[in-house]
Amino acid sequence: MSSLNLEHIGKKYPNGFEAVKDFNLDIEDKEFIIFVGPSGCGKSTTLRMVAGLEDISSGTLKIGGKVMNDVDPKDRDIAMVFQNYALYPHMTVYDNMAFGLKLRKVPKDQIDKMVKEAAKILDLEHLLDRKPKALSGGQRQRVAMGRAIVRNPRVFLMDEPLSNLDAKLRVQMRTEIAKLHDRLGATIIYVTHDQTEAMTLGSRIVVMKAGVVQQCDTPQVLYNEPCNLFVAGFIGSPQMNFLDAVVEKNGDKIQLNIAGQKFTVPAAKAKALETKGYVGKTVVAGIRPEHLSDDPEDIAKSNGETFKATINVYELLGAETFLYFDFGGTAMTARVNPSSTARTGDAVEFAIDIDKLHVFDKDTEEAIT
Ligand code: ATP
Repeated sequence: MSSLNLEHIGKKYPNGFEAVKDFNLDIEDKEFIIFVGPSGCGKSTTLRMVAGLEDISSGTLKIGGKVMNDVDPKDRDIAMVFQNYALYPHMTVYDNMAFGLKLRKVPKDQIDKMVKEAAKILDLEHLLDRKPKALSGGQRQRVAMGRAIVRNPRVFLMDEPLSNLDAKLRVQMRTEIAKLHDRLGATIIYVTHDQTEAMTLGSRIVVMKAGVVQQCDTPQVLYNEPCNLFVAGFIGSPQMNFLDAVVEKNGDKIQLNIAGQKFTVPAAKAKALETKGYVGKTVVAGIRPEHLSDDPEDIAKSNGETFKATINVYELLGAETFLYFDFGGTAMTARVNPSSTARTGDAVEFAIDIDKLHVFDKDTEEAIT
C-alpha cells in the first residue's frame, strides 16, 4: 500500500518563516499528484518533508497508514528524483544505478538483475558502461530515474525532474514518465512549474500559494471550475481575462455591466448571483481567451453576447492565433482560429461564450457558484 496522508502539515523554518501552513491531502495508492504554484510557495518544502529531508514542524505524515514523522529518510521506502540529477560523475551508468542497492547490501546477482531490468525499461541498456559526462541531458535524466526505480520504492518524489532539458526533450521525457507511471504502478508526487506537465501528467493537481493549498482536484475541474481568482489565473495559458463587472437585474435577467455593455448571465450563475445578494455590487468576471471568438458563425450564434475592440497586437502561432486588445480599460487576450482575418489596428467583434463565464467575489476572490 503506497497511500499517503498529509494531515495538517506545517513547516516553520528556524528563522520563524512559515513555508507551509495546514497542508491536508490524502493521496491514494498509484496516484500521480502534481504540486504547482509560484516560486517560493512551499512545493519543495512539502516534498522534502515527505522524503524526510526536512523536519515536519506540525501535523502528521502517514505512508501506507503508518506515521512517518520521525522515521529516517532511508526507511520511508521513497525514492526522490531531483532536477540536477545528482549523478556520480566518476561512476558508470551501471554503477550509478547500482550504488544505492550496494549500500543496502543487496546480493550482487540481484543487483545485476534489478539494474538490467530498469535499464531495459528506460532504454539505457546500451549505455551502462558510459560515464555521465558522455551522456546527453535526456540520457542523464533517464539514469536518474533508473537509480530511483531500481529501488522499487513505494513512492516516487520528483522535484522538477525535467527542468534542465530543452523543450523537445521535455516533451519526450514527459510521455516517458507517463508510461513509466503506468508500468510501475507507483504513487508519484511531482513538482513542476510547467503547466503542460501538470495538466497532462497529473491525476490530481495541488495548487499552492504562500504555503497554503488553494485547490486540489483533477486537471479538468481545476480548469473548468477554479475555486478562486488565483487558481483561475494560474491554471491556463494565456491566462484567463479578468474584468470588473457590475451585477444588474433588468426584468427577469441578471446581467453583468462591463464598461457600459451588458451581458446576460446564464440561469444557474444568475440564480447564485441574485440569491447571494450580488445585485448592485461589483464582481470580477473571468473569461478564458479560448472562449472569445471573432468567427462570424460564433457571433451569429451568440445571442448578441458580443463586444467590439481594436486589436493592439496580432500573433500567429501556427495552430492558433492570439489577439491582444483593450476592453473597458483592461488588457485582454483572445485565442482564435488561425483563419481569422483580424489584424493589428482592426476593430473586431468578439462573441463571448457566456456559458463559460466565471464570476468571482471582488473582496474574497472566491468563485461565486
Ligand atoms: P521554487 O518553485 O522556487 O522551487 P518552492 O515552491 O519549491 O519554490 P520552497 O523551496 O518550498 O518553494 O520554499 C518555500 C519558502 O520557504 C520560500 O519562501 C523559501 O525562501 C523559504 N525557505 C526555504 N528554505 C528555507 C530555510 N532553510 N530557512 C528559511 N526559509 C526557507
